[in-house]
Amino acid sequence: MDAAGHPRRRALLTGGFAVAAAALAGCAKSTPKAGTPADLKVKAKATTAPPDERPTTAKAALARLMEGNKRWVDGNLHHPDRDPDRRQLVAQTQEPYGVVLSCIDSRVPPELLFDTGLGDLYVLRTGAQAVGPVVTGSVEYGPMTSGTPLIVVLGHQRCGAVEASYKAMRDGATLPGNLQAIADALRPAYDQAVRLDGSDPVDTMTRAQIRLTANDLRSNKDLGPLVKKGSLAVVGAYYSLDTGRVEILGGAPS
Ligand SMILES: [Zn+2]
Repeated sequence: MDAAGHPRRRALLTGGFAVAAAALAGCAKSTPKAGTPADLKVKAKATTAPPDERPTTAKAALARLMEGNKRWVDGNLHHPDRDPDRRQLVAQTQEPYGVVLSCIDSRVPPELLFDTGLGDLYVLRTGAQAVGPVVTGSVEYGPMTSGTPLIVVLGHQRCGAVEASYKAMRDGATLPGNLQAIADALRPAYDQAVRLDGSDPVDTMTRAQIRLTANDLRSNKDLGPLVKKGSLAVVGAYYSLDTGRVEILGGAPS
């Protein structure tokens, strides 16, 4: 248990998850404090947060991200944990405190707009943050294998992928090549936007896509039990290109 009474995240590993973690260790080894070389801890500078200072709850993880977003909005970036010491510290092990699923849009890089460092986040980016089995499995990796406490589904203002999908479905057209797979994944959000009939249907569809995706992840058979017992939160959030601000749409831990 840590000082706040929360179980160490490693303790959340159970047999099946541990096997999965071991199988995937080559690409995403998640071993917490016990595996951190003491000499590297000593060498870490003030800009590199020691593992014990890293968020262990969804509430603390979201607070950390929103603090970083405020710095981004204010133009007061700290660029934490991006030095060679940090690189060494996490070279053998990692323990990200959050998962961010966002759009591929070049203006929405999670590490920048949350002002995070190396080893802080698992980041997945697809057009309009659309999901399918591979993406969902990747989102689940951290929470299921090492107790990552927070998932953020991050959509954004003026999303080109949503707009193209909206227009294609509205006009009964098909997008070229594999782009149509994105439109297919966004069909439920399109249907909801049509029902809501807002003044800006693309923005309405974007917000629907965020909420629907977060809801699906929050209640699926793998993540639902973690949410139910309070060890995981799945937050839907919207990023403004104009202001740089992240707006929480739902799912924030209490
Ligand atoms: Zn986008």
